[in-house]
Amino acid sequence: MKKIKKRDQEYIKQNNLKMILDIIKDKRPISRAEIVKIANMSPTSVSRIVGSLMDLGLVKETETYSNGVGRKAILLDLDLESVITIGVYINKHIINVGVVNFGGEILYKDKIDLNPKDIYPDILIKKACGLINDVIKNSKIDSSKVIGIGVSLPGIINSKNGEVIFSAPLNWKNIHIAQAIESELNIRTIVDNDVKLKALAESLYGVGKNSGKTALVNFGKGVGSALIINGEIFRGVTNIAGEIGHITIDPNGILCECGRRGCLQTFIVEDNLIEEANKVKKIVDIEEIFEEARMGEDWAVSILERAVTYMCVTINNIVCMYNPDTIVVSGSLVEAYPEILKEVEEKCKTFIWAPLRGTFKILYSELKSQSDIIGPSTLASNTFLSFDI
Ligand SMILES: [Zn+2]
Repeated sequence: MKKIKKRDQEYIKQNNLKMILDIIKDKRPISRAEIVKIANMSPTSVSRIVGSLMDLGLVKETETYSNGVGRKAILLDLDLESVITIGVYINKHIINVGVVNFGGEILYKDKIDLNPKDIYPDILIKKACGLINDVIKNSKIDSSKVIGIGVSLPGIINSKNGEVIFSAPLNWKNIHIAQAIESELNIRTIVDNDVKLKALAESLYGVGKNSGKTALVNFGKGVGSALIINGEIFRGVTNIAGEIGHITIDPNGILCECGRRGCLQTFIVEDNLIEEANKVKKIVDIEEIFEEARMGEDWAVSILERAVTYMCVTINNIVCMYNPDTIVVSGSLVEAYPEILKEVEEKCKTFIWAPLRGTFKILYSELKSQSDIIGPSTLASNTFLSFDI
């Protein structure tokens, strides 16, 4: 009985530490009085918990002017150098690695380009480990401060056991990547889906910072979405929630990379737009379709208009399902061609189901490709930071 009670107290204490730390992270720098208001706790409790966080070296006092009043106040901020994590982003063309501080800032980064033969799991993992080692060394950080590595890649991921269940772009099945990196480098490692981690980064450090319910939709080589509720990734039972690109739109439609027909993403992804264009003219990349459309070629305009329509279908489906306050639009298709964004925004004004119009903001990824590193490093920080004192 006594034991259980002790464990309960320990649990409450850990939760309180995490809650106050999250408030400081979100509102930094912040005074104790403001934390009292937000946390709805007594000043004594807040002071005690802040004291523990300072003992852990995670939080420090800074003297600065408080807003408006003009007199000096002691504010609390994160000790940015106290926790370092490594963010790794992998796709079939590139490995990106960055060293990230406690405030989600990239201190140093590097990348290597991959050849098609490099994407075999053993070769790729070896290259990633080599790059992680180099980046840690070249960043000149104190490597003892590194608490973990987060890995982001496209596919279905079991983040609990660190397994890539299936990644179509990499052609991987059942690869235990987290374990492999962990045993090679002796640093705790976690892996998750790239779109989910992008959403996490945007909701904590990017355009979704003031949103409690952020959905991110990614239009690029595939179409994916993710939902962040109060700073946490909504995963569903097996971490597949948000795979909106594989919603069936036309059961007799063209084949998708997933092996089924008529998935939503087959109407939007670059490769399919290029294939469609080739029915009319020899086209090798999406840029050419945009060029032809700019010159007023009807077929090119029609291809892009249809893509815009299905991008609006995607956004409408997301808001109908999740009712978020913010939709962050990201991905190579929209980042490379801002004009497509304008059209999506314009069409959404009338296309979105009426009760949902005006209930959410459409924002554009602020962090862009930086989120590929900040997302996984944030997951590593959230997962491996312990409050043992
Ligand atoms: Zn599919």
